[in-house]
Amino acid sequence: MVGPSGETIQVTLVPQPGVDEDGPHRLLQAWTGDQPLGWVRVDASSGWLRVAVDAGAAAGAHAERRALLRALGQQARTERLDGVVLVAGTPLLLRHEARLAGFTGPLRHDLAWDLRPPFEREWAGLEGFVKEVATLLPGVEILSDQGAGGWRSMVRHASSGMAGMERLTFRDRDEDDSPLRLSVPVREDSMPECVALIADTALSVRRYFRPLVDKVRVFVDRPAESRNSNWAGLADQTARDIHLTGGYVSVIEMEALVQHLQQRAEAASGQAPRRASYQGMAPFTRIDAVVAHEFWHQVEFDLDSSRYSDSVAFRRAVGAYFGVETLEHVMKGKEPGAPPEWQRAFARLADEVSTYATTNPLEASAELFSQWWCTRAAPPPSAHAFGQILRHTFPDAGLRPSER
Ligand SMILES: [Zn+2]
Repeated sequence: MVGPSGETIQVTLVPQPGVDEDGPHRLLQAWTGDQPLGWVRVDASSGWLRVAVDAGAAAGAHAERRALLRALGQQARTERLDGVVLVAGTPLLLRHEARLAGFTGPLRHDLAWDLRPPFEREWAGLEGFVKEVATLLPGVEILSDQGAGGWRSMVRHASSGMAGMERLTFRDRDEDDSPLRLSVPVREDSMPECVALIADTALSVRRYFRPLVDKVRVFVDRPAESRNSNWAGLADQTARDIHLTGGYVSVIEMEALVQHLQQRAEAASGQAPRRASYQGMAPFTRIDAVVAHEFWHQVEFDLDSSRYSDSVAFRRAVGAYFGVETLEHVMKGKEPGAPPEWQRAFARLADEVSTYATTNPLEASAELFSQWWCTRAAPPPSAHAFGQILRHTFPDAGLRPSER
């Protein structure tokens, strides 16, 4: 692999004998030259090299990720194993690189690389891209809208931010009268798996609230430079659209986003995050969390405008979980002189859900929804409570993927 300045990038994997690990796991440290890249946890007990890579090891440049994959392949060959498996929850940039290098596997699952046949995929244009997304979404029919004039040219004007925007529609089995409309940049650095994740979560949330958010359109159209404005997604209340950063689809934009987030974390803590728990969310990803969050905003806009007294009851129920009268009191817990139980409720919201949840009541409920949606086994108490509140507020709602 040749780096930007022409030199060959090599990643070496160094065993860490002093580190205790459970069972058959071993910890390796990945290095590029004399720079530590990150940690790699391996397990060869299945005859394949099963690998969990931390965020640092996947956050470098494209050439470093490719070199890391080659180093993993070399490690497997040295140990006379059949191939390499990247466990579910591996950072998406590395999964994309791995798919390009010949790893295969379904959405949200392990990716496997059989070491025997060398394999490189070539860019096959819009049609090839859509085909790849479709293989990751069994039961979903995908159409591209190339040539259907009016809507397309309007999108071009409305979303000047990203090049190569294509309007795709996703029809969920036969039951979908109102297919999901998703506009994404389709170009050589677009990641089919990420588009499949966005569509998969959007379709599932739509199915859950059917038909409440069927008309919501999704646009992946914000360049990652707008990350300075500090959002990854935006729900437009008037147009009933959701906008997401291109950092969730394009390799170039995601690299910029990951770097930005890492710098921000370093600035906040004074050091680079060492072993971020990307695996902790599996099979969900950050993308699923943001898509669920933005869809919830659309659900709540509808609740507020068409069922006002239910929306009041909803916020009271959320407040009750945090030990106060209503969600607004949780938020006011940050004000000086607030009653102690409000302050406690505010601290719990930050601790149990997220710091971002403390921004305002709408972000609080969106973060709660996202946490609940992206939890499989053993939900934290806040997600469990929110699930019950949802059941009460939306008695006709369907089932989450984990309940089906
Ligand atoms: Zn939000």
